[in-house]
Amino acid sequence: MAGPSAGGRPGGRGGFGGGRGRGRRKGAAGGYRRDEDAAPKIWIPKTALGRDVLAGKVKSFDEILSKGIKVMEPEIVDYFFPQLAVDFVMIGQSKGKFGGGARRVYKNTQKKVREGARTKFSYLAIVGNNDGYIGMGKGSSRESLPAKESSTKAAKLNMVRVLRACGSWECGCGKPHSVPFKIRGKSSSVMVELIPAPRGTGLVVHPEAKRILALAGITDAWSRIDGETRNRINLGYATFEALKQTSTLSVPKEFAEKWGLK
Ligand SMILES: [Zn+2]
Repeated sequence: MAGPSAGGRPGGRGGFGGGRGRGRRKGAAGGYRRDEDAAPKIWIPKTALGRDVLAGKVKSFDEILSKGIKVMEPEIVDYFFPQLAVDFVMIGQSKGKFGGGARRVYKNTQKKVREGARTKFSYLAIVGNNDGYIGMGKGSSRESLPAKESSTKAAKLNMVRVLRACGSWECGCGKPHSVPFKIRGKSSSVMVELIPAPRGTGLVVHPEAKRILALAGITDAWSRIDGETRNRINLGYATFEALKQTSTLSVPKEFAEKWGLK
């Protein structure tokens, strides 16, 4: 058993080198790549906030939000929300002959340069923990994957807390399933208003707004939308702005309890 490995490795250094070699051979043989990918990334914080978070000095993400400290490292968000979900607003559309083709998550724009046309990919990412925290961010690049990654990173650095409540006098269940009251957000020409709905209503909103509300952990709402909704980027941001309205509130405790505010 010990035959081949006992011979060639007398010292500690040899052992170390051998170990590394073995790892590489496994990698080359295939089947071990997944281990490599699954290995936890080592985070070396670059900011004072990051160092405090890693040292356990910051107890919650709310502590950061309430102090108004700007988060510069996406790893801080990953630290507090390990189960964070990522989605993309369908901001693009494939070219079609009759009024355009299928919706898609990225938008292609072309710029004429001397060598021909240069394509750029843009994404609008939404991140959320399905429980009151969401972020939104845009990213673009000449290639699809980096554009996707930079939008996700931008979304993480733009996290807000969304206050939820029952909000509907018809319902009165006291659980945080809807928006606390009518809220409005605007982005360019698009206005989105979110209206509290009783439990079981579902999300009676634009399909793109639906993805955003779901990631925030809202299950019931009605909406009213004005403006050029074909512009999905504005639609996305207007929805995000509306939800953001709730985070700046200070609600008296008696109301908070009555509404099931969370
Ligand atoms: Zn309710």
